[in-house]
Amino acid sequence: IKDFEARPSVTHLLEHPFIKQAHGKDVALRQQLAALIQEQQEIGCKTKTNFSFGGHFTALRGIIMSLTSYRHERINTRKTLIIQSCPDDDLVNLEFLDEETIICHLQKRYDELQVYTYVGDILIALNPFQNLSIYSPQFSKLYHGVKRADNPPHIFATADAAYQGMVTFCKDQCIIISGESGAGKTESAHLIVQHLTFLGKANNRSLREKILQVNPLVEAFGNACTAINDNSSRFGKYLEMKFTPTGAVIGAKISEYLLEKSRVIKQAVGEKNFHIFYYIYAGLYHQNKLKAYRLPEGTPPRYIDSENCKVMQDIVSGKLYKEQFDAIQECFRNIGFTEEEVNSVYRILSAILNTGNIEFAAITSQHQTDKSEVPNSEALESAASLLSIGPEELQEALTSQCVVTRGETIIRTNTVDKAADVRDAMSKALYGRLFSWIVNRINSLLQPDMNICCMNVGILDIFGFENFKKNSFEQLCINIANEQIQFYFNQHIFALEQMEYQSEGVDASLVEYEDNRPILDMFLQKPMGLLSLLDEESRFPQATDQTLVDKFEDNLRCKYFWIPKRVELCFGIQHYAGKVMYDVNGFLEKNRDTLPADIVVVLRTSENKLLQQLFSSPLTKTVMFLACVWPVHRCGVFTVNVCVQVDTMEMMRHPEETTNMRRQTVASYFRYSLMDLLSKMVVGQPHFVRCIKPNDDRQALRFCKERVMVQLRYTGILETVNIRRQGYSHRILFEEFVNRYYYLAFRAHQMPETSKENAVAILQRAKLEDWVLGKTKVFLKYYHVEQLNLLLREVI
Ligand code: ADP
Ligand code: MG
Repeated sequence: IKDFEARPSVTHLLEHPFIKQAHGKDVALRQQLAALIQEQQEIGCKTKTNFSFGGHFTALRGIIMSLTSYRHERINTRKTLIIQSCPDDDLVNLEFLDEETIICHLQKRYDELQVYTYVGDILIALNPFQNLSIYSPQFSKLYHGVKRADNPPHIFATADAAYQGMVTFCKDQCIIISGESGAGKTESAHLIVQHLTFLGKANNRSLREKILQVNPLVEAFGNACTAINDNSSRFGKYLEMKFTPTGAVIGAKISEYLLEKSRVIKQAVGEKNFHIFYYIYAGLYHQNKLKAYRLPEGTPPRYIDSENCKVMQDIVSGKLYKEQFDAIQECFRNIGFTEEEVNSVYRILSAILNTGNIEFAAITSQHQTDKSEVPNSEALESAASLLSIGPEELQEALTSQCVVTRGETIIRTNTVDKAADVRDAMSKALYGRLFSWIVNRINSLLQPDMNICCMNVGILDIFGFENFKKNSFEQLCINIANEQIQFYFNQHIFALEQMEYQSEGVDASLVEYEDNRPILDMFLQKPMGLLSLLDEESRFPQATDQTLVDKFEDNLRCKYFWIPKRVELCFGIQHYAGKVMYDVNGFLEKNRDTLPADIVVVLRTSENKLLQQLFSSPLTKTVMFLACVWPVHRCGVFTVNVCVQVDTMEMMRHPEETTNMRRQTVASYFRYSLMDLLSKMVVGQPHFVRCIKPNDDRQALRFCKERVMVQLRYTGILETVNIRRQGYSHRILFEEFVNRYYYLAFRAHQMPETSKENAVAILQRAKLEDWVLGKTKVFLKYYHVEQLNLLLREVI
């Protein structure tokens, strides 16, 4: 790259291995570039072709675009050609700091295919919506252990910073990726894992492959095609990569949060079920094995035969699903699942598809009008056979229920609608538990040796903020989770920093930011927060969605909540990321998420080992959760109350499972999950990646200013630029500072006193400027730490 700083000749440029490597065999592109440059020269006048690549790799296609547009301009204006990638990789360095300048700057970079930009230590990632050739192993090498400023911004640089932070300071790290649905979070998470496995020198090739295959496997079960994103994550994922203290990767662990199980039974128009159902149906279809799994051959099962989706056509004609099925089989095998386990997984998936095809009809006799039966038993028998249970028992559990009142057991029959609800509840429970089992199994297969001390880099990729035409309970949970992540970001970037200036007597001007705490309080406070009210209402058998809305209206009095006039069963929330209208239809039922005991009893009789496991014992999730349900915001400090080991098994069970009176609801389970996630995050040093969606049409090279502006506004990027420019993002106690860096000014054996004076000696010796001393801490700019670490590495 450096060569390009010296204004290369055309041939030099075209033959440079960097360009060649980056664009492979794309000879046409290179020729196009040569022709364009030649044309520039022919037009006459001095052509100053300054491809300033020094630290600014611009993809060839980007240069050609600039040249093409310049050509027209050039002919018109006869100005000197200057094609120069912008030297400001970091928004903090911009001279003017208003919205317009920032947007124009990002747009200019995006046009040149520079999708990454820094705001100090935070990375902004614009979704390119096309494959870029900047993620090869050569790039991993380029971004290994070098100064941030040596290379253009890149997701690998963020992964590298986390890795170096872990190795240098023996501290856990976490990378928090946020952004709207479709902004590129999941792709970013993959790239981070890819770079971390590279850095982690996974000598053991099989371990490296296993880790790289975890994401595709879990995503086949947890992702689906939505209106916004063809590969939308329908669950939250926290992947911890485990390293030895010297930085060798030794394992991984995933935690999953809030899978959108309702997708199994119903999808919005134009959306699809979880990928795995299509993969398996197509895979078995092409292997002529549909019969073996008792799946219908003519029309696809109802759960995957949604309106407006040409499923069968895609399955029969397209190779894609089939290839993905093969890939998933490969993942299962590589990660270490046994043949028997994989077969059981397929059987359960096929059973779910068959369950969806069970239909009910009313039996109307003289005395009874609320009884139902299964007129066509084919699907029922298939489901029962795949689950290794008796078809009669299954039919009975679907069409009736045992109720125990005053010591007496009464059998109540189910209406057609009720029976259909029980059927769907069973499908959801089967899928939810299967998903958790797969995650747990992966964790046990990738668990490092217990005797090795290990450190983590966690990568958080949760479902992004959603605002559809119709938003339901799922969107509410997703958006609350995003509020929480935004709050954590604000705490980390603004609140903590500003508090420390004051307490340490450091003079730094305060930056105003939008605090979303009141909205979070409205959701999470007990007993009058929205989720508590929802739980309370869910416990009343007579409650309806209307009584729920009334309850919200009576109790939630704040400007972030309102009930719109003339729209029934609806409420609005002013989220940090915008206004969302929620449709309350089905809220109570979704929150209760009940699975009748009769179904559990039948499923427990199964001879299928995996199924027995899913329903006999609570899934073991070794989690700690916070004693307080909501982290206390004391004097602006994000205090995590002491973790209390409670009967985690009981609390973290799947909500449908608890049978006591105070039944665990989805909302309360969600609350615990959120706290569990936070407790993991707060112990690590955070690194933030803010993904931005440049347009809603998923088009490459289309930068919609308004859409980007909205995202920059609500994520507080402008304020972040300000605070990063003025502020000191690293505040280290004198003692810790001296212990960390004394090698820079003292000899190894000297063991200097951990005093303020010695801290100053180190800072002076390292020739840093612009640092400040507080009462107990050294205040450093984000780039100082990098400089110090590099010096340290040279010395050690
Ligand atoms: P999110 O997880 O934020 O909902 P995804 O990561 O699934 O979004 O990204 C949506 C789509 O955008 C991807 O399927 C891919 O087509 C495209 N995309 C995102 N990031 C990149 C990238 N770095 N390079 C190429 N395409 C990308
Ligand atoms: Mg995603």
